[in-house]
Amino acid sequence: MTKYAPGKEQHKAKKSLGQNFLVDSTVCPRIAEKAQIDGIGVLEIGPGFGALTVELAKRAKKVVAIEIDSDVVPRLLENLGPFSNVTVLEGDAMEIDLKGVIAEQFAGMPVAIVGNLPYYITSPLMMRFLEEQLPVQSITVMVQKEAGQRLCARPGNRECGAVSAAVWYYSVPSILFDVRPGAFRPQPKVTSSVIRLEVREKPLVSTSPERFFSLVRAAFGQRRKTAVNAISALLGVPKEDVSAAIREAGYPETVRAEQITMEGFEAIAENLFPN
Ligand code: SAM
Repeated sequence: MTKYAPGKEQHKAKKSLGQNFLVDSTVCPRIAEKAQIDGIGVLEIGPGFGALTVELAKRAKKVVAIEIDSDVVPRLLENLGPFSNVTVLEGDAMEIDLKGVIAEQFAGMPVAIVGNLPYYITSPLMMRFLEEQLPVQSITVMVQKEAGQRLCARPGNRECGAVSAAVWYYSVPSILFDVRPGAFRPQPKVTSSVIRLEVREKPLVSTSPERFFSLVRAAFGQRRKTAVNAISALLGVPKEDVSAAIREAGYPETVRAEQITMEGFEAIAENLFPN
């Protein structure tokens, strides 16, 4: 394990918690700037020692930061000393009642999620933010470059996956900029990207989330199979019915999940589950 001293004493970075701390002083102001958080509430995931938190606190009305590692909290609080608009909550961002936190801490304020995410839980965290339909206007996060490309890939594109469909269903995503491994201590092996999801007022397609995501998960659930076989196997629907729904949506029976667009999934869902 690499040793890193972001302050006075040494802290042994915990690989298991995805601890790669930002040490390039130009990156955090850039993330905070691009997050467009002036005068609003910010829910930060994984503040660590507060490199990004400080930049958020300078711009936002209020910052609530959720950190799982109690070992970093004393130094975090010390670094946040000059700011009276930050609250630190110790806990697991996967477990905490985020809707409750937003309602309690940001009553009446527009809210954005920002974070240099722990990479080991990027996808589950993003799915959680989206599927729970948290009342936030945007999500600006640093993720591994490949994860960012997958999250932002529009369905119908080779790089997309089930998580990309969730991203597009609820938001308009964009990749903002890359961050080199040398900007962190310890250095990760891969390049990172900052991405931004602008949450839509209304989902992109009209199919209910339950139907849409059960179909999408099934289609991507067996990547080596055609969409017909995967959907039929995982949803337990006869193959002829799935083939008919896919043909009616304008695709050949051999189509694979990554070739189907958002509108395509919408049409297949409507054909497969009419009411
Ligand atoms: N924001 C800091 C920075 O940019 O230097 C730290 C970023 S580091 C990549 C990820 C942070 O998330 C670490 O502080 C880690 O302890 C914290 N973390 C890991 N898993 C978490 C979880 N489930 N809930 C909340 N925080 C978590």
